Amino acid sequence: VVDSLSQAHRVIEFPTVTKDGGRLQTTSEIFGQNVFSLKEMSKMLPKPVYKNFVKQLKGNETLDKITADAIAHAVKVWAIQRNASHFTHWFQPLNDSTAEKHDSFLTLKSTFVDGFEEVTAIDTFSGSQLLQSEPDASSFPSGGMRSTFEARGYTVWDTKSPMFIQDGPHGTSILYVPSVFISYNGEALDEKSVLLRSAETLNKTAVEVLNLIEPKDEDHPRTKSVYATLGTEQEYFLIDRALYTLRPDLKITGRTLLGGLPPRHQQLEDHYFGKIPTRVLAAISEAEYELARLGVPIKTRHNEAAPAQFEVAPIFEEAMLAVDHNMLTMDVLHRVAHRHKLKCLFHEKPFRGVNGSGKHCNWSLSTDQGDNLLDPSSSPETNLRFLLFLVATLKAVYDHGDVLRAGIASASNDHRLGAHEAPPGIISVFLGTQLNEVLDAVEEGRAVNLDALGTQLQHVRVSGTVLDLKVTTLPSISRDLTDRNRTSPFAFTGDKFEFRAVGSKQSVSFPVTLLNSAVASTLMDMRDALIKQKGDKDVASKDDQLAVIRDFIKQSKPIRFEGDNYSAEWAEEAARRGLPSIGKSSDAFGHLLRPGNAAMLRKTGVFSEAELQSRYHILVEKYCKDVMIEGQTLVTMVMQQILPAAFQYRRNLAEAASSMASINVQADPEIALLNQLTPLVQDLQAETNGLCALLNKMIDIEDVEVLSKEACQEALAAMNRIRDLADGLESHVSDKLWPLPKYTELFFNI
Ligand code: ADP
Ligand code: MG
Repeated sequence: VVDSLSQAHRVIEFPTVTKDGGRLQTTSEIFGQNVFSLKEMSKMLPKPVYKNFVKQLKGNETLDKITADAIAHAVKVWAIQRNASHFTHWFQPLNDSTAEKHDSFLTLKSTFVDGFEEVTAIDTFSGSQLLQSEPDASSFPSGGMRSTFEARGYTVWDTKSPMFIQDGPHGTSILYVPSVFISYNGEALDEKSVLLRSAETLNKTAVEVLNLIEPKDEDHPRTKSVYATLGTEQEYFLIDRALYTLRPDLKITGRTLLGGLPPRHQQLEDHYFGKIPTRVLAAISEAEYELARLGVPIKTRHNEAAPAQFEVAPIFEEAMLAVDHNMLTMDVLHRVAHRHKLKCLFHEKPFRGVNGSGKHCNWSLSTDQGDNLLDPSSSPETNLRFLLFLVATLKAVYDHGDVLRAGIASASNDHRLGAHEAPPGIISVFLGTQLNEVLDAVEEGRAVNLDALGTQLQHVRVSGTVLDLKVTTLPSISRDLTDRNRTSPFAFTGDKFEFRAVGSKQSVSFPVTLLNSAVASTLMDMRDALIKQKGDKDVASKDDQLAVIRDFIKQSKPIRFEGDNYSAEWAEEAARRGLPSIGKSSDAFGHLLRPGNAAMLRKTGVFSEAELQSRYHILVEKYCKDVMIEGQTLVTMVMQQILPAAFQYRRNLAEAASSMASINVQADPEIALLNQLTPLVQDLQAETNGLCALLNKMIDIEDVEVLSKEACQEALAAMNRIRDLADGLESHVSDKLWPLPKYTELFFNI
C-alpha cells in the first residue's frame, strides 16, 4: 500500500490537449468531437435521406429501411475514420447502470478466385443492425414480467439521442448506439422507454394548455412542442485506490460498514470550495476533457462539504439527453479515476458521520421557441403563463409527492435522507417569500393588477435589492429577493425547480419520469379546467386563467413550506396538513402502487399495470438484496478481520502482563485495558452471531414485502450495534494490528 501510495504521489501530468499553433485547444473546440451529431449527419448523408431522418425525429414518420441503411453506412464510415472496430447498443436496464455488448464490424464473404471459393473479411454495419439488436436478456431485472423460457428482449435505437464513440483497447474505439430495451411484448425493461413516454405525454399536454391561452396570431406562431430541461449536480467521493482495495465493505457495498470518525473531519468547514488537490484536479480535468469530446457540457467543479468529496455540474439540456449524459459522466469519472490510482465513490453515504452525496435535479420546461416556461418574465403577456405552469407543478407535487419519494428510494439513499444534510422523507415545495406573496394575493382575490404582477415577478428573478458592501472599491451587487432554503426537498430557484432528494448513485431517469408524468397529469386537469372556464371563446381570457390559477393555488396550498425542513416542528405541522412522511425506503416503494399514483401513471400512458408491478417488485427486491449483502459483508469482516485483530491484541496484552508479573513489575495498565476490551469483544461476537443467524433465516423468507419491512430493519439495527462495538475496538486496539485503513487514511491521502 505504501508503495502504491508513493507511486500515486508521483509528479502528476495534466492531460495534454491537442495543440494548435502552440496553444491548447479550448473546450469549445473539442466539444462534441466524438459525437455523430446532426451536423455531422447532414454532412455525410445524401440530402433526401437526411431530410427523412429529421422528419422521423420530429415524430412525423417512421424510419424506413433505405434511410436506416444509409445512416448505418454513414456512421460506420465516420466511426472507422475514428478507429472504431466494434459497435454496441448502449442501454439502461433497471439496475442504475448502463449495459453494452460489443459486436465487431467483421463480416465474412465468399468470393470465387480462379474457380476456388475463398472467404474474405469486410467491415459492414447494416440498417437493421443499427435499428435493433437482441441481447440475451434473461439476466436483467424484469420484476417477473419475463419468464426465463421467453427470455427475448430487444434493444432498439433511440434516435433522439446521438451516437458517439468511446475509446477501446490498443488505440481502437467503439461506436455507441443509445438504445431502449423492451421485452418480446413491447414492455419497458429499462429506464429510457418510460422516460421517453413521459416526455411525449408532457409535450402533448403542455402544448394543449399553451394553445388554450395563446391567441392565434400571424406574428407569434403558436408553441409546437414543450420539453423538460434537466441539469444534474453530481456529488461523489474520491479516495486512494490502494487503500480502497483493502476495504471489503467499500468494494462490495460501496460504503464503509465500520470505521470511526477522526478528530478532524468536516467540522472546520475547510473543504467546501477549498483548493482541489492536485491528483484529483488531474483526474477531474482528464474526465472533463473526455466528456467534452462526448458532447457533455460540464460547467462546474468544486470541493464539497465532506473531506474527499467533490461535485460536478453540467449546463442543463433536454432531459432525455441530460440523463444519458449523467450516466456517461459517472462512467467516465469512474474510469479516469482508475488511471490516477483513485477510486470514485458514488454511494449516497460512503462514510458515517460526514455528509453524504446527492444528485440535485434542476428541472424546468422549455418551448420549441426556447422560452423557459418557469421563468417569471417581465412581460405582462407571459406572467400568467408562468403562474399556470408554476401552480401545475405545485399541484403535481402535492398530489404525487409520495410517488416522487418512491422514485428516490433505495437502501443506500436511506442513510442520507433526513440526516440533517439532506431533505427528510416529507416532500414539500419552497417558493421564497416574494413568490408566496404573489400566490397569496391571487388566492385571496386581492386587487392583483396584472401589469404590477409582471413587475413583481420580474423582481423575483432579476433585480433584488442592492447590497452595500461597505468597501468603496467593490462593485455593488444585487441580492436575490429570496434566499436559498437548503433544507427543502423541492425548491424553486428563480427559474427552475431543484429536486434535491435524488441520490448520487441512482439513475435520474426514474425520478424525472415520475415528475414529468405527475406534471403532465395535472396539466391535463388544467387543460380541462381552462376549456370549461373559457366557454365558447377561442382562447381563455386573463380572468379565465386567473380563475384556474386561483383554484390550483387553493388545492395545492399544503405542499408549500418555507421553514426549516429538518426541524421537529415541521414533522408535526406536516402531519397536521396530511402530508405523508415516509422516513424509510421500505415504506416508500408501496406508494408506487397507491391507486391515485397508479391511475396517474396509467392515464399518462407512462406505465402499464404490469410494468408498474414489475418496477415495484424490482425495487423492493433490490432493497432486500442490498441489505443482505451488507449484512453478510459485515459478518465476514468481523469474523475474519476485526475479531482476530482484537484477539491478537488481547494476547499481546496478556503476555505483556504475565511477563511484567514474572519480574515483579505492576501490570495494572495492561490488565485495565484488557478488562475494557473483554466486554466489547464478547458483545461484538454475540451480536455478530445474532446477525449471522438472522441472515440465514432471511434467505428463506420469500415475500420480499415482509422481508423489506421486518427482517431488513432488524438486520440494519443489528449492523448499527455491531458497528458501534467494532468502532469502540478500533479506538482501543493497537493501530499496528488494525486490519483496515481508517477514515483518517481514506480522507486525507488524495
Ligand atoms: P444553483 O442554482 O444550484 O446555484 P445554477 O444556477 O448554476 O446553480 O444551476 C445548477 C444547475 O441547474 C446547473 O446544472 C444548471 O445548468 C441547471 N439549470 C439552470 N437552469 C435550468 C433550467 N431552466 N432547467 C434545468 N436546469 C437548469
Ligand atoms: Mg443547486
